[in-house]
This record gives sequence, C-alpha cells and structure tokens, in this order.
Amino acid sequence: MLRIKDLYVEVEEREILKQINLEIEKGKIYAVMGPNGTGKSTLAYTIAGHPRYKVNKGNILFKGKDITNLSPTERARLGIFLAFQYPIGIPGVTVASFLKTIINIRKGENISLSKFNRLLKEKMSILEIEEDFARRYLNDGFSGGEKKKCEILQMALLEPDLAILDEIDSGLDVDALKVVAESIKRIFNSNMSIIIITHYSRILNYIEPNFVYVMKNGQIVASGGRELANFIEGNGYEWLEGVDLNVR
Ligand code: ADP
Ligand code: MG
Repeated sequence: MLRIKDLYVEVEEREILKQINLEIEKGKIYAVMGPNGTGKSTLAYTIAGHPRYKVNKGNILFKGKDITNLSPTERARLGIFLAFQYPIGIPGVTVASFLKTIINIRKGENISLSKFNRLLKEKMSILEIEEDFARRYLNDGFSGGEKKKCEILQMALLEPDLAILDEIDSGLDVDALKVVAESIKRIFNSNMSIIIITHYSRILNYIEPNFVYVMKNGQIVASGGRELANFIEGNGYEWLEGVDLNVR
C-alpha cells in the first residue's frame, strides 16, 4: 500500500524527519508512536502532501506509484486520507455540505444529492451518529469526541485505501475513546490500511495493531508487534535514550 524509502523532510529550513523507512501493507493496522515533538504529525502531513513540508531526499510510493511530488488533492484522489490532530471549525459551513464537497473532490465528479443523502445516511447509521449532526456547522462548538467522530465520518464517506489518523485519541475521555475506536473498527476493511498515530498506547487496547513503529527525534528507532506498545505503556519513551539511532 505504502512504501517510504530513506525519507528526509525539512520544515521552515529545519530538518525534522531523517532516514525514514516504512512499509504499510494492505488490510493491516499500524501504530506510529513517539513522544511529543518527534515528527509524527510531520510524517502524516508529508504523506498527505502538505506543501510546507519539503522532501529533501528519498521517496514515497503509494500503490506502486511515486507520489513524492503530487499535490494533496492528487493524493486524496488516489485514496490517501488524513484525519487531523486538531480539526478546525468552520462556522457557516454545515457538516453535510463539507462532506459533499470533499466527496466531489475525491471522486472528481458531482455526486447527486439523492445519492449523497443515501450514502451519508448509511455511514451515519453505521457510526451511530444522530441525523442532526450533519446540519451542524463543521467542528463549531463540537466536543473533543464529536470532532474526532466527524473525522471518522469523513473517512467513512471517502473510503480511502490508506487512512492516517493523527492522534485521533487525544483529548478524549475513556468513554469517547471507546466510541471512536469502535467507529474506526466498523469502517476498517481488508482492502484498506490504517496508520494510527499516537503518543499513548491506550487506544491500542481497543484497536489491535498488526505492527508498531516507534519514532524519536525524527527517526524510526524501533519497530515490532503489539508487545512494543505494551512495553512503552509500562516504560515510556525514556528507555530509547542513548539508543543508536542508526540501528533499527
Ligand atoms: P509530533 O506530531 O510528534 O508531536 P510534529 O511533527 O508536530 O511532532 O513536530 C516535530 C518538530 O517539527 C517539532 O519540533 C515542531 O516544532 C517542528 N514543526 C512541525 N511543523 C512545523 C512547522 N509548520 N513550522 C515549524 N516547525 C514545525
Ligand atoms: Mg502531532
């Protein structure tokens, strides 16, 4: 699904990501963990094609195609989705009209209103979201849980091949976290891949990852199975101090 080879990324003339190698297979769920400020969101934005993040070296292959120089729109059309760590509010724009717009961009055609309404209803029912949610202004006055649920609803409608969920668990209490985790599981299927970016291993108690990558200081310093997340839960990231960053 995704292969990142020897990637170096710079933001505002500062090199943030170094020597990133990553492989994401179809039908699997991955966790990318790491302390704050380590470059997790930078990695997410770089895969999505944010123009501020400059690739100095290496490349990104998505479904076998080199996407390193494609625009965010082109990548979205190919099937990449990014759920933001901090979704922004847009007063005056309803959830429904926003969703209709992004579907049209994703598909490159205008979906009919009746088809859209059917699709929206279907996805909202899967996610157990009440109908009036779609009439509210996007993320305007939403609780933390509602914002994250709205990101999942976008994912459900866009049907991406690769979904990158940047700290979808942050700022949620345990009940909201369970709802969000359950929603993700309902949308996940064997034709797609999910990357769950998280600081804490808490969400991984509800969604079992197939594989875990650990980042520190802009590099991937460890990788392994689910047990790696458990280890971090017990030991934090301190144990990574002094690890030779060139050895994986
Ligand atoms: P994480 O998501 O792991 O907390 P980030 O990717 O947000 O880490 O940030 C990694 C580093 O890159 C931080 O030192 C941050 O200040 C810097 N950084 C990220 N984005 C920008 C930006 N747009 N402008 C300047 N610095 C940035
Ligand atoms: Mg982040």
